[in-house]
Amino acid sequence: MPTFDYAPAPESRSVVDLSPSYGLFINGEFTEGTGSTFKTVSPATEEVLAEVTEASAADVDAAVAAARAAYTRVWSRMSGTDRGKYLYRIARILQERAREFAVLETLDNGKPIRESRDVDVPLAAAHFFYHAGWADKLDFAGLGTDPRPHGVVGQVIPWNFPLLMLAWKIAPALATGNTVVLKPAETTPLSALLFAEVCQQADLPPGVVNIVTGAGPTGQALVEHGDVDKVAFTGSTGVGKAIARSIAGTRKKATLELGGKAANIVYDDAPVDQAVEGIVNGIFFNQGHVCCAGSRLLVQESIAEEVEARLKRRLETLRVGDPLDKNTDVGAINSREQLDRITELAAAGEAEGAERWSPRCELPSKGFWFAPTVFTGVSQTHRIAQEEIFGPVLSVLTFRTPAEAVAKANNTPYGLSAGVWSEKGSLILWTADRLRAGVVWANTFNKFDPTSPFGGYKESGYGREGGRHGLEAYVRTGA
Ligand code: NAD
Repeated sequence: MPTFDYAPAPESRSVVDLSPSYGLFINGEFTEGTGSTFKTVSPATEEVLAEVTEASAADVDAAVAAARAAYTRVWSRMSGTDRGKYLYRIARILQERAREFAVLETLDNGKPIRESRDVDVPLAAAHFFYHAGWADKLDFAGLGTDPRPHGVVGQVIPWNFPLLMLAWKIAPALATGNTVVLKPAETTPLSALLFAEVCQQADLPPGVVNIVTGAGPTGQALVEHGDVDKVAFTGSTGVGKAIARSIAGTRKKATLELGGKAANIVYDDAPVDQAVEGIVNGIFFNQGHVCCAGSRLLVQESIAEEVEARLKRRLETLRVGDPLDKNTDVGAINSREQLDRITELAAAGEAEGAERWSPRCELPSKGFWFAPTVFTGVSQTHRIAQEEIFGPVLSVLTFRTPAEAVAKANNTPYGLSAGVWSEKGSLILWTADRLRAGVVWANTFNKFDPTSPFGGYKESGYGREGGRHGLEAYVRTGA
């Protein structure tokens, strides 16, 4: 336990100007929409933040029509140099309004301000800067002959990194000359609506970016719309499979960024204190609501006891609570539904015989909260070793040989990411070569950069986002 308490250090909310209700952003303007409304709440307090519009199929149709008109009349005719200028402008405005975005994201999502301020918002701006640089160089990106945009892109994103996932989707689409209709997740629509204001501020031609809010049916209307040329989806594997089925046989292109169950492998020669920091960052960053979270710790048997002891000591120092407090390490769970899912899976872990442990921590009485949790004695058949929990829950397994580590790491339907901790470069490379994961981190975890492609194998989806590879999904080439 810490020997002292931190004084409260709350970030002020005054920088955010919340409207009681929000419409849809179609053709450069906020419109009322024809559907019903729903409320978005702060997961830390259950306070209603705003009423948001549930876009109907007719609204989605209007948004796609606006995107089509903008594509045909303006955006596809504009030079890459000029498109790049808009992207640079958006990036700079995101930086200028960074504090506002960080506070809003933390209010709507429940993630600690430390993370929205230092990770989500700067990385979102970095994605626009990076793709702005590509806009006039696509012919030289090695994408093939005469790279051209697809047209209108329908994009659907999840709630764990609302602004960052928006940036991963919109920046490459615009850089390559496509126009977009994007649907944010129903529990975190507010930063996308603030981004719509940024588009206005940047004088982006109307219709190039359209934002429609709503839940599954709105997303379904978007991905199934007949005039959408390409679908870009990030979310659960279940919904990703449904989308793949619904667009099979059509001319639509698709990229699917889905779930994960990453192994974080710690060999007996690893620097243990650094590995412990990497384990904590791997699973407790963003409350474990991370597709590439290191949710399965594979630790070599000879050091398992030591790693577990040091990990538990470190977890006693994590501060769980008010996400707007600058000292908070672990914030609120994004929704009651997600809290119920985490609670159910953790109960299954206990019922199946794994040993459950959490540090002593007082959870706020209102809002959605789950204490950081570690399961030891986990076997590969346990549900907590197989299913994506998407919460602050770590399953610890052990191994004896590198071959066993690789076999256990790959024993999952997913294949998004993995971590390897060792002093030996040769062992890291040997292991990374054999892991079926899109991203492998060595002696670090959860590092993101717009220049680096990100994406999965197997049920973690297909296609890459970021880097030169990420551009490929947004262009067609050849005759
Ligand atoms: P989800 O699949 O429930 O929802 C994602 C989005 O899809 C939401 O906007 C939702 O409204 C929409 N949606 C729901 N049903 C739909 C349908 N039938 N058609 C079209 N859209 C529909 O996922 P979630 O719970 O919001 O997010 C968590 C999941 O996202 C986790 O599985 C996580 O691993 C995954 N994720 C993956 C990545 C990645 O890059 N691979 C990144 C972040 C999150």
